[in-house]
Amino acid sequence: KNFIIAIDGFSSCGKSTVAKALAKELNYIFIDSGAMYRAVTLYFLRHAISLDDKPAIVEALANIHIDFIPSTEKTQILLNGEDVSEEIRQMHVSNMVSEVSAIKEVRTAMVAQQQQLGKTKHIVMDGRDIGTTVFPDANLKIFMTASPSVRAERRFAELAAKGESTTMEEVVANLAHRDHIDSTREESPLRQAEDAIVLDNSDLTQEEQLRFVIDEVQK
Ligand code: C5P
Repeated sequence: KNFIIAIDGFSSCGKSTVAKALAKELNYIFIDSGAMYRAVTLYFLRHAISLDDKPAIVEALANIHIDFIPSTEKTQILLNGEDVSEEIRQMHVSNMVSEVSAIKEVRTAMVAQQQQLGKTKHIVMDGRDIGTTVFPDANLKIFMTASPSVRAERRFAELAAKGESTTMEEVVANLAHRDHIDSTREESPLRQAEDAIVLDNSDLTQEEQLRFVIDEVQK
């Protein structure tokens, strides 16, 4: 039977770094569920879809096709065939993605696609509701946390490395904003699954984090 590892937590806790390393180590497929919500957000921005226009949202969702092209280097995400891996990380997408992710119809569509991806393959999926809603029966659930300052510094360094012009203040505000919406939304809010194992990585190297999860897989 296929093995499913769910990694959840707030924004910029280092979920995807661990998830990617883990998938590589175990030879599983890594699925970044946040990238799917980001791709939907980018589509909404490009087509100027208003977030309270339900019919337009439903129509847009029917026209959105998301694919992942896995590779050892980095997984590409395609929005209707176009590689949007870079653009979905930009600040204009980050600033709107939590509002888009809070829309019931958006979640229903994305959760269905995510569950489909987990049907046949061994996967590591990171997100906010993977262990609670998408795969409540996942074989292993990890809930990642890190201190707010560590999270902001990581995010800032990541954006700066890409040449994105932003300030520490803007990053801190965006993280706080997304945390708030993600944990207070009506539809499957971010929370720790009861059977999740907590991994606080504020003071751990990537190597140590990977070991921690591998040990859990082998238990
Ligand atoms: O993981 P990442 O930070 O790229 O996700 C972007 C946004 O997508 C999050 O802030 C959250 O609002 C939303 N998201 C979600 N459910 C998931 C994954 C991401 O609502 N499973």
